[in-house]
Amino acid sequence: MKGIHLRCDRDGSTYDASEVRYRSTLGEPLDVVHDLTKLAGLTTETFDARLRSRNPLDRSGVWRFRELIAPIPDKDVVTRREGNTNLYDTPRVASWVGLDALQLKHEGENPTGSFKDRGMTAAISLAKSLGMSRVACASTGNTSASMAAYAAQAGMQGIVFIPDGKIAYGKLSQALAYGARTLQIEGDFDDAMTLVQEVCDAEGIYLVNSINPFRIEGQKAIGFEILQDLGWKVPDWIVLPGGNLGNNSALAKGMQELYALGLIDRLPRIAVIQAAGANPLFTAWTAGNDVVPVKADTLASAIKIGAPVSWRKSLRGIAACNGVVAQATDQEILDAKAQVDAAGIGAEPASCATVAGIKMLVKQGVIAHDAHVVGILTGHLLKDPDLVVGYHQGTLKDFDLTYANPPTRISSTLAAVQAALED
Ligand SMILES: *Cc1c(COP(=O)(O)O)cnc(C)c1O
Repeated sequence: MKGIHLRCDRDGSTYDASEVRYRSTLGEPLDVVHDLTKLAGLTTETFDARLRSRNPLDRSGVWRFRELIAPIPDKDVVTRREGNTNLYDTPRVASWVGLDALQLKHEGENPTGSFKDRGMTAAISLAKSLGMSRVACASTGNTSASMAAYAAQAGMQGIVFIPDGKIAYGKLSQALAYGARTLQIEGDFDDAMTLVQEVCDAEGIYLVNSINPFRIEGQKAIGFEILQDLGWKVPDWIVLPGGNLGNNSALAKGMQELYALGLIDRLPRIAVIQAAGANPLFTAWTAGNDVVPVKADTLASAIKIGAPVSWRKSLRGIAACNGVVAQATDQEILDAKAQVDAAGIGAEPASCATVAGIKMLVKQGVIAHDAHVVGILTGHLLKDPDLVVGYHQGTLKDFDLTYANPPTRISSTLAAVQAALED
């Protein structure tokens, strides 16, 4: 593949990008390296001009930035015009977290309801370009929903490994409905992740978890689009949740590439928020150590990951962007979610770790009250309806349901309605 190669950051070894390979001989997840000298003529005007185009690639919020994604033929691109998500001004949420202003980029507005579509369009297009007929992933839900949809569009068989126990209904229903072969395994996400790598190697199936370096390339476009939304003016902070840590690795990589190309004049700082019950990155970053896997436990199922695959890339990107890592308890995530939802924006629990984290970092003085902050909401409110109903109806146990908005049962008379509305 011209213009890119794969590289291991630990030993510097390089590999041809047309080879199906996710790790170096050291076992380290690989990076896609773009030959930026060949892209020296690229300008932000190139990307902005495509906003007026009818070409499906230009209309995709990923392939609009294709020079920095993957150099594959247009005919191999499998796109659902992903991205193009809104960047909302959210004054109510801003005042709750103690900021003068806050903007939230809602990645739940992607075709299957999460940012995973950005990585998936890249990975499935690569699969097509490499001639693969089967793709697989381990997933807490959103990756499987996205893969199932894109595999169906590409005419490939999708195979999903989901962990035992709770998987949010919005996500499971998508994987089943889009026709993926769904295997629920005994074990948690981390077990599923280990197994799927073994299966893909043994069976020649293309792996589309974020260990696949092209997932990362697609997800960089969240950052590209935020900057395009802002007229290429760099915010002070971009804040997002961290689970398997692909997304924050992607964000940092994309920002560094834009900076190296001279398309932005500085790097934003990045804050990664983990759930306190699934916080190996937070522990490692705080202590200055390597990541040590933990047993994950949080109701934010999308970030319930104890052995994150991309932790070295993640720490590298955080260091490059002068970033920080914070953690939020499930109670803090629930409180933040109630605020995001009641603002009329709405997002799934893991997404709201972003807002919980911003609130804490403002309180700690890490983020100044007048800073320009963009938070990423990673998934749609309807991904996890059980949790929402449990919260508002009061059946979710062990938490303070401070902002619950329960329905009231009344008789069907005008007087009863009037009485209820006066309450
Ligand atoms: C996948 C996912 C995350 C975590 O992203 P990583 O790249 O695994 O760190 C957070 N929120 C939602 C909604 C997700 O689907």
